[in-house]
Amino acid sequence: MDNIKLAQLLFPDIDKTPGYFEELYPPRDLPEGARVTRFAPSPTGYLHIGGLFGALVDVLTAKVSGGLSYLRIEDTDKKREIDDGVSGITDGLKAFGVEFDEGVTGFGAEKGAYGPYTQSQRVEIYQTVAKSLVEQGLAYPCFCSAAELDAIREEQEAAGADIRGYFGKWAKCRDLTFEEIEKNINEGKSWVLRFRSQGSEDRRIAFDDMIRGKIEMPENIIDEVLLKSDGIPTYHFAHCCDDHFMGTTHVIRGEEWISSVPKHIALFKACGYKVPKYAHTPQVMKFDEETGDKRKLSKRKDPEAAVGYFVVEGFPKESLTEYLLTLLSSGFEDWRRANPGVPAMDYPFNLKKMSPSGCLFDLVKLTDVSKNVISHMNADTVYEGVAAWAKEYDPGFYGVFTASPERSRAILNIDRESPKPRKDIAKWNEVKDYVSYFFNEFYTPDYTLPDNISKQDALAVVSAYAGEFSLDDDKDTWFGRIKDLCAPLGFTPNVKEFKQNPGAFKGHVGDVSTVIRIALTSRRNTPDLYCIMQLLGADEIKARLESAAESWK
Ligand code: GLU
Repeated sequence: MDNIKLAQLLFPDIDKTPGYFEELYPPRDLPEGARVTRFAPSPTGYLHIGGLFGALVDVLTAKVSGGLSYLRIEDTDKKREIDDGVSGITDGLKAFGVEFDEGVTGFGAEKGAYGPYTQSQRVEIYQTVAKSLVEQGLAYPCFCSAAELDAIREEQEAAGADIRGYFGKWAKCRDLTFEEIEKNINEGKSWVLRFRSQGSEDRRIAFDDMIRGKIEMPENIIDEVLLKSDGIPTYHFAHCCDDHFMGTTHVIRGEEWISSVPKHIALFKACGYKVPKYAHTPQVMKFDEETGDKRKLSKRKDPEAAVGYFVVEGFPKESLTEYLLTLLSSGFEDWRRANPGVPAMDYPFNLKKMSPSGCLFDLVKLTDVSKNVISHMNADTVYEGVAAWAKEYDPGFYGVFTASPERSRAILNIDRESPKPRKDIAKWNEVKDYVSYFFNEFYTPDYTLPDNISKQDALAVVSAYAGEFSLDDDKDTWFGRIKDLCAPLGFTPNVKEFKQNPGAFKGHVGDVSTVIRIALTSRRNTPDLYCIMQLLGADEIKARLESAAESWK
């Protein structure tokens, strides 16, 4: 068979050689040991939390080695693509601060010298490599119809064949003559291009997975499809060309791809490319309350499978990154304790320390991590986060909250930036409720008292306090006045004294404060009441004390 003639027959319009692209995309000029990684999602749906997890591994792996990472869109399967699939991915990554050095940055936008970074725009490259494979006798056209392929599958099933697919004696088109091929083409028969596998059933391949260690599998013997009948490559072939021309050193991807590695190694070798290093990341799992078992996060059942969920709920990006890093790497929490305040993305991540088994995504744990992260933010950062979230998801609150930015910042600043900051807020959608008593637009008083305080006593406390408080007091004087209220009303300013002899008093200074707190905020537990009062102002305090008194009469 004259392979050169065949290649020309199959690809008359391809006039470039792989050498042309080798020159266009020269090896990257990077220091020794620098790793080039990529995140290569298909735009077939929203960004899955597992995708964000993988993207973080890509970025961190490249960063700690002084290398670079890029985002490639694998859109060769147009049937599965959704309209805003690309923006769904890039927006999701941006919302959580995951930034690549190169690649697609948004719908129709990209940066970097190794592009285009969208597979549908690289068809000429794939066809050029495919043509060269035909020239070397490593690929051939297959004219089998869907019905013929079904028949082969059925025969293999009936025969109980261990290996199923298009190979060996089943590969009917593998040995067609040039004349037969030419005739089919002249008749307008549609064809796909298949890989002429050089694999053998008795041989095994081994590779070192950076997370899982040595993995051994049977060699690939299947004549995989490289180009579909419309000339568009399959994922397997496209990613092999791209990872080569884009200089990828480490292919990091989900564990569902492990079984494809023999196929991929065979393709890299056939093309004459260096096989990249592999790391297959564990799946993100969830504990299923119903079955009491771990299972994969499901798009259908679990809203938290979509990264968009965390945006709508208002989890700050720092919280999600921080939490994902605890899942990614067992060493992260120790590092965090030793390095408080350092950005999570500065963590010296090591692929080899990743656990190969599925990691459990736990919303409760994320919530705790997030409370901690937010408690260490300054009031400005919290204000900006809340405002940006509310603008999008709660415009009514946004208007009120941002009407007086200084006051809102001061509200958020109560008990913040202290050695033991309060951990009240886990996500921005909780802030409206958290600050509601500062804004009459949202405030609905609730004067329910604890069981140990009677309405009569509460009334006496607020009535006395209304004539006592002064916003000019410093904190000690302010508290002194509350203590002074105690004795005349039958309470004691001394908690210890109360504990020693509870029968002798109606309660202690804590109960008196609680009454005032409830009258002013409708809550039993709030940040510092002194600061709250300063921000409410004297008129509002008076009005609220009166309104509470009314309700207890
Ligand atoms: N496009 C593939 C996916 O959707 C990427 C696989 C890979 O990273 O090699 O998962």
